Amino acid sequence: PDEPELEALQHADVAGLLPLPTAESDKYRRGVVGVAAGSARYPGAAVLAVAGALRGGAGAVRYVGPAGREVIARFPETLVSDQGPHKAGRVQAWVVGPGAGDDAATVAEVLEADVPVLIDADGLRLADRDAVRARTAPTLMTPHAGEAAALLGTTREEVEGARLSSVRELAARYRATVLLKGSTTLVADPDGGPVRVNPTGTPWLATAGSGDVLSGLAGSLLAAGLTARDAGSVAAYLHGLAGRLAAQGAPAGAHEVAEAIPQAWRDVR
Ligand code: AMP
Ligand code: MG
Repeated sequence: PDEPELEALQHADVAGLLPLPTAESDKYRRGVVGVAAGSARYPGAAVLAVAGALRGGAGAVRYVGPAGREVIARFPETLVSDQGPHKAGRVQAWVVGPGAGDDAATVAEVLEADVPVLIDADGLRLADRDAVRARTAPTLMTPHAGEAAALLGTTREEVEGARLSSVRELAARYRATVLLKGSTTLVADPDGGPVRVNPTGTPWLATAGSGDVLSGLAGSLLAAGLTARDAGSVAAYLHGLAGRLAAQGAPAGAHEVAEAIPQAWRDVR
């Protein structure tokens, strides 16, 4: 029998995958997320990715980059460093790329880490394909249609017209799990199998910085030990619910989407 091409993520699946702390938990078991994001030009991307990571349940967030001052002002619990990723201390998953500008060296350094890595935004453009393919720890890439088109050497329209084959092709080319953002978010593994579809999106999420929040949130779930496929699809599910809660039929900013993530957790549990 043919296996189904698509698999809708169910509420009960998400509830079962949420990493809840137990009496044995400490911050390391909950997961330490490293966020290498932001630039002098886009400090806000760093703040939003850190927000997503904290609200995603990370035990700790380490921020590496030039926006440490802005991050600390908003989230004093963040551990900030102006050294590179190699010197950041213990990190169980990295998020690299949101607002990163042209810092290719940091992207290359993160890709060498032997822990799961999420690559988004500028990081997708800066990452060397062979370096991604050579990784042994999981990689999760989170392009929107325009970024996916650039990676595939095609146009946004082509990707929008063939989302399922595009996400599969990218996963195969990069040997990575790929989350293709958009009105329906798709998650494909490099080894094939059914592509996950997220049912919770809302067009109110089409707002600047919303993807940065998703990156941090998914990074948090990677650090907690979820597979790239589960981390990506659970993050998309919670992000969609948070977008609905933040917007409730009227515009909301990306930082408000991040602040609605805890309520999304409560609604899922
Ligand atoms: P980015 O393009 O990186 O800022 O990410 C945008 C976020 O908003 C992603 O999580 C998308 O899936 C989501 N999004 C954008 N447009 C829509 C839409 N029309 N319907 C639902 N979600 C959307
Ligand atoms: Mg983005």
